[in-house]
Amino acid sequence: MENKVVAPAENGLMKKIVSHAKEYGFVFPSSEIYDGLQAVYDYGQMGVELKNNIKTVWYKAMTQLNDNIVGIDAAIFMHPLTWKASGHIDGFSDPMIDNKDSKKRYRADVLVEERAAQMEAAGKKDEADALVKKLARLLEADDLKGVQDLITNEKITCPISGTANWTEVRQFNLMFSTQVGSVAEDASTIYLRPETAQGIFVNFLNVQKTGRMKIPFGIAQIGKAFRNEIVARQFTFRMREFEQMEMQFFIRPGTEMEWYKKWKETRLNWHKALGIPAEKLRFHDHEKLAHYANAAVDIEFEFPFGFKEMEGIHSRTDFDLGNHQELSKKKQQYFDNDIDEATGKPYGNYVPYVVETSVGADRCFLAVLCNAYTEEVTGEGESQKERVYLKLHPTLAPIKAAILPITKKDGLPEKAMEIYNELKYDIKVTYEDKDSIGKRYTRNDLIGTPFCIAVDHQTLEDNTVTIRHRDSMEQERVAISELRLKIRKETSWRTILEKV
Ligand code: ATP
Repeated sequence: MENKVVAPAENGLMKKIVSHAKEYGFVFPSSEIYDGLQAVYDYGQMGVELKNNIKTVWYKAMTQLNDNIVGIDAAIFMHPLTWKASGHIDGFSDPMIDNKDSKKRYRADVLVEERAAQMEAAGKKDEADALVKKLARLLEADDLKGVQDLITNEKITCPISGTANWTEVRQFNLMFSTQVGSVAEDASTIYLRPETAQGIFVNFLNVQKTGRMKIPFGIAQIGKAFRNEIVARQFTFRMREFEQMEMQFFIRPGTEMEWYKKWKETRLNWHKALGIPAEKLRFHDHEKLAHYANAAVDIEFEFPFGFKEMEGIHSRTDFDLGNHQELSKKKQQYFDNDIDEATGKPYGNYVPYVVETSVGADRCFLAVLCNAYTEEVTGEGESQKERVYLKLHPTLAPIKAAILPITKKDGLPEKAMEIYNELKYDIKVTYEDKDSIGKRYTRNDLIGTPFCIAVDHQTLEDNTVTIRHRDSMEQERVAISELRLKIRKETSWRTILEKV
């Protein structure tokens, strides 16, 4: 029997989320008027707010909750030797395979993994596990012929052409390169960084010295990264230009397992604090450890297309700093004057070990969006209605409150504008007076606004307004003077940070 690999993007719920994201200004295909560019997306007016909120809450959780973690913002272009030291020039590749009929390119390992997922879904967990293990062994041994045989033996076919007419499996480097230099002869090849981490490693001593940092300490960074991904689909899950939020934690060798454990827990808590339920998150230990790592785990989220990696936590030993030291011929050492109880002497000079946490801002955005997308039936009998809304954590919502005069006359718009002008300094609010109040509530539900503030005739008499809550649709009467504090309390960074 020939099984077809089902393209996960065909999943119905995912389709709805992608079109919702476009229709309400969250995510647009890049350069859409030219039919878009595969695996590149633009964030729209709502998306940029949501994504910025996610980035802010990550940055604060790192640099504000920990007095030994500081931030940097390194350049995207780096000296080419950086990528030699990091191993990306020689080893940052994926095994790829082309289907000769459809001319489509696939990641060979992903084709096999998807087959394993199908087996698991069909109740054949043992067979699926055995397949994944076999794949891991072949990849470890760099046995590309073996991977190809696996694809043939499993009778895996192309989802587009339906045939098994494959090329051989080849390695494909994922780094984008370009030229710098004013004249062609002087030009030299540089790369668009495939991860932000190296910008942190090469600044390790700059930060340590100028910030007088004592080990253990961390450096956090948010920035763009670029990978020429072979399998470019699943919306913002796998993009060619994306954003990472990475933190490298520099520690004394021998203490890595303790810190690895701590960061594993802390990072899981962060995702839960964003409102993602525990049952949609899980740890996934790496089958195959990268050559530099002595422990590695992914935090996976249950996307509509299955549990997939959202964040990686890696114990990277002294691999990166050690290699930079060797290639740059500049010592990357730290003098630790704490006393080693075993010897009674200071620990002295060493190249620190590193535990890193690395999460994609776009994958996290997608997880938050998928989790928030809610379809609900309200009312009964004839008045039964379907409602779609985004159940976003109020602190992450693009707009915190919409100020809505119930009519456009009798001085209500002026009063509503007064409230808007008072709140706008502290809170992201909007003012809207077009269409019926019901339509405006619906529009705000669709973008996840947690509070709608209705200004009516009673407001003119007693300076109170109605707050309509997004999730429960319940309404309460509140004095205008209490609004600012009330909304700020429910949308403050603290609501998330205190749960991390
Ligand atoms: P995958 O196996 O899915 O390709 P990875 O293991 O190569 O991911 P890492 O190198 O560990 O990913 O990168 C850290 C994080 O950066 C990932 O957990 C993910 O959130 C994000 N990331 C990596 N590649 C992409 C991409 N192409 N698009 C969006 N986010 C990405």
